Amino acid sequence: MTQLFDSVYDLHRSRLELLPQLDRPKLGFSSIYMPEELLYAAGIAPFRLTGETRTVSSEASSILSNNFCSYILSCFSEGLDEVYSFADGHVFLDTCDMRKRLYEVWQKHVGGQFYHLLELPKDTKPASFSYYRFQLKRLLGDLEEHYGVTIDEEALRGAIRLCNESRRLLRTASRMRNEGILPIQSMQLLELVKAGSAGMKEEFNRRLSAALREYEGVEAPASPNGCKVLISGSYFDNPSILEVIERTGARIVCEDLSTGFNYFAGEINEDAEDPLSAIADYYLGKAVSARMIDADRRAAHIRDLVEEHEIDAVLYVSLKFCDTNLMDYPYIRHSLAQQGIPVLFIESEQHMTNIQSIRTRIQTFFETRIS
Ligand code: SF4
Repeated sequence: MTQLFDSVYDLHRSRLELLPQLDRPKLGFSSIYMPEELLYAAGIAPFRLTGETRTVSSEASSILSNNFCSYILSCFSEGLDEVYSFADGHVFLDTCDMRKRLYEVWQKHVGGQFYHLLELPKDTKPASFSYYRFQLKRLLGDLEEHYGVTIDEEALRGAIRLCNESRRLLRTASRMRNEGILPIQSMQLLELVKAGSAGMKEEFNRRLSAALREYEGVEAPASPNGCKVLISGSYFDNPSILEVIERTGARIVCEDLSTGFNYFAGEINEDAEDPLSAIADYYLGKAVSARMIDADRRAAHIRDLVEEHEIDAVLYVSLKFCDTNLMDYPYIRHSLAQQGIPVLFIESEQHMTNIQSIRTRIQTFFETRIS
């Protein structure tokens, strides 16, 4: 049965071979606030940049700066190395300053035919939803003009259904993982998310629903032991840290990350009168990342997840130089302390060469702080 899951992971692991074979344009993106629905509705394959095939190159650091987060530098290193030469271009979002800079240097140094910077408001006032809808309309207009297509309401509704289905399947996988029914851990859940954002959602939905069907009716084992952990923070794709946590006997049951729960939380209203407004409502309504102004809302979101999953400890992870997440951390820690939840802060890099000191800190944290 695990072979069925391997076939899902393969959509991500083999994406650099599979995507060029697709008979449709491909556009990259780097933020989960990117409404993939718009691109699927235009007949485009949207794939997420992961920065995992390259370590930070000296060229990328010298063009941007050494004090950029390693996710952005790794993505740029991939671009400079023409890893994504099969793509028509990219849609960037101004989710943080570093992503904005990536948009600028990518155009100049990597090249491509289609570029768009989607502006995302930083708050959720009513005017911000209208403004974001206007931005989505601009992106639709640019796509229609560049690709000579018409993106009508029906196409948008079809794309909403497609992406909602992926969200539902990922939520089911996460729930069944937590119940001990699926033989997967946090690392594999993150891989499922990456497969879901690899530009082949139709195939992803087919493969993941087939894999999940095999476990229908399987009885959940008696409640597994081990303290329950929530992991939160900036872009995170670090299997070695997850492995260290899980080797202590702790169970990661909620990934409050753009590579985890935040990618598949909630759904877009499929029956809304105006699908574009429904898309704007969903993406801006997420509003749970550190880049949004309302830190209270993020803190409340994390506290809700802690209660829902009966969390014993939180690991807050941030890439070095990720100002948005680093600035939020003291506030989140304070908020969780009031709930009596211990927090371990870990600052890391996209590609870790030596996690020995982090391993020691994680082991000590679980031995001394968790009863
Ligand atoms: S990790 Fe932080 S700095 Fe890097 S792209 Fe994400 S929000 Fe921006």
